[in-house]
Amino acid sequence: MPDEPLHDPKFSLPDSLIGRVVITNLDRMYNWGRKNSVWPMMFGLACCAIEMICTQASRFDLSRFGMEIMRPSPRQSDLLIIAGTVTKKMTPTIVRLYDQMTEPKYVIAMGACASGGGPFREGYNVVPGVDRFLPVDVYIPGCPPTPEALLHGLIELQKVIDGQSLRTAPWYRKGDREIQIPALWSDLVETPPAPQRSEGPKA
Ligand code: SF4
Repeated sequence: MPDEPLHDPKFSLPDSLIGRVVITNLDRMYNWGRKNSVWPMMFGLACCAIEMICTQASRFDLSRFGMEIMRPSPRQSDLLIIAGTVTKKMTPTIVRLYDQMTEPKYVIAMGACASGGGPFREGYNVVPGVDRFLPVDVYIPGCPPTPEALLHGLIELQKVIDGQSLRTAPWYRKGDREIQIPALWSDLVETPPAPQRSEGPKA
């Protein structure tokens, strides 16, 4: 389904209808709307956040992807870009912000620090990868990733969204998907295993 034209219904049409009638299905229409209106949260942690800010500015311009401006509140956002080093002390706050975001919601780990701890991986205060406590949809390598790399990651996220189906997406099912806020101790964080996405290609 990703990268396929929206109007291709995947079955043959009578000649009299070709070019006159557009047929698609609900999943593709729904995903087309969602993938072109992702609202990222205005939230950065360290040097990678500067690249994220550049990506939003005029030279690169996220508006071309329907992402317009970054939202200052988790309740108006459906994309959390973890841009920077994640310290253990920050994890309860990050999980709380994620829980407050509206569903369907997505997470991008931007850069080496967010993806695996980066150059500070062995640090006593650094989380070696945000996927220890959040379900990550797209990982972007680099230290820092360039704005072009973030744009590529966002395009990959659009493919993930395009691969989802209303029939199987967890967002419209019953059940509590809130992530438990990690418990902070003197020098460590106790985290439950992060839930995994149940569908759509991983990028
Ligand atoms: S990946 Fe590199 S640029 Fe990004 S937050 Fe870590 S140290 Fe800074």
